[in-house]
Amino acid sequence: MRILIVEDEDRIARDLADAVTAAGYVAQIVADGEEAWFKGGTEAYAAIILDLGLPGIDGLSILKRWRQEGVATPVLVLTARGAWSDRVGGIDAGADDYLSKPFRIEEVLARLRALIRRSAGRVEPLIAVGPVTLDPRSREVMVDGVPTSLTPLEFRLLNYLFHHRGRIVSQTELSEALYSHDHERDTNAIEALVGRLRRKLKADVIETRRGFGYIVNPPEK
Ligand code: CA
Repeated sequence: MRILIVEDEDRIARDLADAVTAAGYVAQIVADGEEAWFKGGTEAYAAIILDLGLPGIDGLSILKRWRQEGVATPVLVLTARGAWSDRVGGIDAGADDYLSKPFRIEEVLARLRALIRRSAGRVEPLIAVGPVTLDPRSREVMVDGVPTSLTPLEFRLLNYLFHHRGRIVSQTELSEALYSHDHERDTNAIEALVGRLRRKLKADVIETRRGFGYIVNPPEK
């Protein structure tokens, strides 16, 4: 089971990684907010340890974005000592648990185990639209039961549309959900990405509403 450790203080990140590894998990360290957001949204982890003060995007914003995109991975937030507003903000943003710094490594592990246990019992339904099935937990996409390999951006796009199925999503909204920097945002890029995704899926699940955006229609009841 993989754990994503998002922490920009090198020593703390390494201590956490050592402890997590000794406990039998596979640790992956990310020090930058942007990369953390991307990895957490496109790769499967059993849990994420998230520091709030990060270069790039701050931890709370990352967490809010993940939850908005439908990323359900359990998140343990690390806050500065006494920063009660961080704790409140973290829980509002979708944190499953939090710990104040400095913490004891044993406590981190105990909380992690509890989070993973709880999430294992949580049912996360597959999202099926026509012949396409998306597994939010494993990040797997199947077409007619056959696994399809998508790039991280393609997966993120499909995941966003599937989580907001039944309503029109504009190109602007999509580019905000997909790219973190304004200068990367380009509606032509979104159009190209949707085109590639359609070719890979070979299924007509993403409809274009000219002038408005895209819509994925939920299956008819
Ligand atoms: Ca920090």
